[in-house]
Amino acid sequence: MKSIGFLGLGIMGKAMAANLIKAGFDVTVWNRNAAKCAELVALGARQGATPKDVAAHCDITFAMVSDPEAALALCQGPDGVAAGIGTGRGYVDMSTVDDITSKTIAGLITQAGGRFLEAPVSGTKKPAEDGTLIILAAGDPSLYDDVKPAFEVMGKMSPYLGDVGQGANMKLVVNMMMGGMLSIFSEGLSLGQKAGLDGQQILDIVDAGAMSNPMFKGKGAMLLNENYTTSFPLKHMQKDMRLAVALGDQLDQPLPTAAIANEAFKQAIKAGFGEEDMAAVYKVIK
Ligand code: NAP
Repeated sequence: MKSIGFLGLGIMGKAMAANLIKAGFDVTVWNRNAAKCAELVALGARQGATPKDVAAHCDITFAMVSDPEAALALCQGPDGVAAGIGTGRGYVDMSTVDDITSKTIAGLITQAGGRFLEAPVSGTKKPAEDGTLIILAAGDPSLYDDVKPAFEVMGKMSPYLGDVGQGANMKLVVNMMMGGMLSIFSEGLSLGQKAGLDGQQILDIVDAGAMSNPMFKGKGAMLLNENYTTSFPLKHMQKDMRLAVALGDQLDQPLPTAAIANEAFKQAIKAGFGEEDMAAVYKVIK
C-alpha cells in the first residue's frame, strides 16, 4: 500500500487520518468543508480536490462520514469515488451505515473495477486518537489483507466478519446495546437522585458491582457534572438506534427496549441536543 486517501475529517476521521500520517503513510485527505483539511496538511498530508480525485490517485481510500446519505453521496456522481477508483484500487468505508447502504456502495465500487471493504468502528474520540478502535471489517478478503497495516495503526483489533453487510450489522448490534444501556443508566441515576440518594454514591456502588463498565464510568462523570462535550454526537447515536430498529423490522426480531430508547434520543434531538454528546439524552430523561 503506497498511498492512502482519507475522506471525511470529522471527530473520528480527523484523529484516524492523523494517526496514519504520524505512522509514516503517504496520505491524501478530502473533506466536504475543505477548511478541515488544514490541520492534516500541516501534519504532512496532501489535499485532494474531490473524492474522485483522491480515489484515482491513492492505492486505498478510506472514508469516515456521518450517515448512509453521506456515505452514498461520497461514492456517486461525476466527482464520486466510483468515478475515480479504477481497476484494482481499494475503498474502505468506515462510516456507520446499514447493511443495505453498504451493499449498494459495494456494488458501485466493484462495478467500477474496485475492491470494497466495510469497516465501521467501535470506540469513540479518545480510542480514535489513541489508535485503539475496534474495527469491524467485512467484504473483499484481499483488500482486508492489504489494509491490515493501516488497521493496526488505527485500531487494537480488526476482526474479519465475512460478507459485506456483516460489519454494518455487528456495529448496529453494539451501538443498539450501548444506546439502551445509556438510556437505562440515565433513568437509574435520575430515579436515585430524585429519591434523595447522592449521585456520586450511586455511581460508586454501580461501579463496584457486576454492572461496572468503562462507559458508565466515563459517561457517569459527565452526567453528574452536566458536561456534554461531544465525543459521539447524539444525532449519530439516534441514527444508529434508528438503523438497528429498522434491521429488527427486516428480520422480524422484536426490539422493544431499543425502540423505546430510540424515542428518548429522538426527543433529545427535538430538544436541540443533537450536536452534543450522546450523554445529553440524560437531559430529557431527568
Ligand atoms: P462528525 O464529527 O459529525 O463528522 C461527520 C463527517 O461527515 C464530516 O467530515 C462531514 O463533513 C461529513 N459529511 C456529512 N455529510 C456529508 C455529505 N453529504 N457529503 C460528504 N461529507 C459529509 O462525525 P464523527 O463522530 O466523526 O462520526 C463519523 C462516523 O463514525 C459516523 O457514521 C458515526 O456514527 C461513526 N462513529 C462515530 C463515533 C464517535 O464516537 N464520534 C464512534 C464510532 C463510530 P463536513 O465537515 O463538511 O460537515
